[in-house]
Amino acid sequence: MATETVGSPAFIASGNTKVYKNFIDGEWVESSTGETFEDRNPADTREVVGIFQKSGKDDVNAAVDAAKRAFERWRLVPAPRRAELVFRAAEMLAERKEEYSRDMTREMGKVIKETRGDTQEAIDTAYYMAGEGRRLFGPTTPSELPNKFAMAVRHPLGVCGMITPWNFPMAIPSWKLLPALVCGNTCVIKPAQDTPLSTFNLVRTLTDAGVPNGVINVVSGFGSSVGGPLTEHSDVRAISLTGSTAVGRTVGTTAAKSFKHCSLELGGKNPMIVLDDANLELAIEGGLWGGFGTTGQRCTATSRIIVQKGVYREFVERYVARAKRLKVGNGLDESVDMGPAINEAQLKTDLSYVDIGKDEGAKLVCGGHRLEKGEYQHGYFMEPTVFIDVEPKMRIAQEEIFGPVVSIIACNGLEDAIEIANGIEYGLSSSIYTKDVNKAFVAMRDLYAGITYINAPTIGAEVHLPFGGTKATGNGHREGGIGAIDFYTEWKSVYIDYSDKLQKAQIDRVD
Ligand code: NAD
Repeated sequence: MATETVGSPAFIASGNTKVYKNFIDGEWVESSTGETFEDRNPADTREVVGIFQKSGKDDVNAAVDAAKRAFERWRLVPAPRRAELVFRAAEMLAERKEEYSRDMTREMGKVIKETRGDTQEAIDTAYYMAGEGRRLFGPTTPSELPNKFAMAVRHPLGVCGMITPWNFPMAIPSWKLLPALVCGNTCVIKPAQDTPLSTFNLVRTLTDAGVPNGVINVVSGFGSSVGGPLTEHSDVRAISLTGSTAVGRTVGTTAAKSFKHCSLELGGKNPMIVLDDANLELAIEGGLWGGFGTTGQRCTATSRIIVQKGVYREFVERYVARAKRLKVGNGLDESVDMGPAINEAQLKTDLSYVDIGKDEGAKLVCGGHRLEKGEYQHGYFMEPTVFIDVEPKMRIAQEEIFGPVVSIIACNGLEDAIEIANGIEYGLSSSIYTKDVNKAFVAMRDLYAGITYINAPTIGAEVHLPFGGTKATGNGHREGGIGAIDFYTEWKSVYIDYSDKLQKAQIDRVD
């Protein structure tokens, strides 16, 4: 097949398919392995969205070397100037929003209105972080000694490694790259192998906005051959992973050996509580959006709905009737509600949980099957699936499925609901529907999760608030807003003594 160089140097055309390269030290380069992999459309696997470099350790080393060199210059650029480039990137992303959102639906499957939201999240993050360039606040505080001044200033860490998942292929890279840049770090990012194009689109925009060579580097490829060497590299000072709890455990353990800063944003099994006094129509609408948005492939997906017994039957009847009417299909069709699973392995996992749920004795009342005829024959489609009469300890109510499978559980009241909600290994998002302000406040206090929504489903985070979870959802860090600034900087406390004599803290005091 003839190959020619076209358009942006980021890719070359191989027939009708673009071959994307790694981005190292400001150059678009082929992998040292000479190997590539395909990024296929999960709604129609006949379409190859792009061909990407299947990189290895040497590529990681080259990218880290470039980032290390660039750090010595970038850290000295004043933060407001660094932030101006991020602001410019926000403006350019807004202009390119439709193009990038369509690319994202093609590579990832989620419906176009959701991929527009994903791109918008990167735009919002860019505007927010651009403003942060003129803050990066730290405390100034009185000294305990006379004629002495004290303050704490934020310093960048150095080279930051970033490993991202496929479900928010532009938003999540933006949560990592943009605060890291504004804080003065340089970056090496490994995008998910299912969705590298959206990360490339984001990085190309930052480059077009003027971010200097070596400050951002992209190495595409797989977890063990790129993510592993990046985590192990002794010149990488921080690793930020968003992914599964199993991979988080591996990455966290490896990073700990060299005392890297390490932020882990991992799995979820998020509960939505519906009490007897709830606005039922609102709760049904929220539960459908939370359960089947992004085909259930959100870390914050509403995968458990815990309904008080007084409204249980009515909720189930109306929820299931609506779930059956959701339109499944190619996400580029504006009328479609739910796209495909990301890949064959994820679809198999989703279907395997249908069998697990049936074997455990839960009642399957909606869906449960693969869709494979007609328009579905070339994609990884599945029906929206609902189990009712689920017991809290069943596997379908405990394990993250990451697909369009919702478990409905009955509860006796608020206390029981909170116990069920908290009775899992994860603690990302949570929600409650009630009109009783007292109950809402109890839930706000007692749901042990990083996020709680009142009268909204478990999804819908905004970029300026901390994002992350408790227990097996992570290791205590937060992305978004000031949480990200805290991760991508470290404190230096500075004491300035203008007394012209030696003053000893804790010792020189008049009692
Ligand atoms: P995954 O854990 O399979 O992969 C995540 C990333 O880690 C990918 O880029 C992958 O290539 C890389 N990786 C895999 N093995 C690695 C290794 N040994 N060393 C280093 N890197 C490695 O997850 P996924 O399937 O891409 O995404 C789905 C998961 O992500 C779900 O569990 C979901 O809950 C979670 N997620 C969490 C959040 C959050 O903020 N808490 C957000 C989105 C997704």
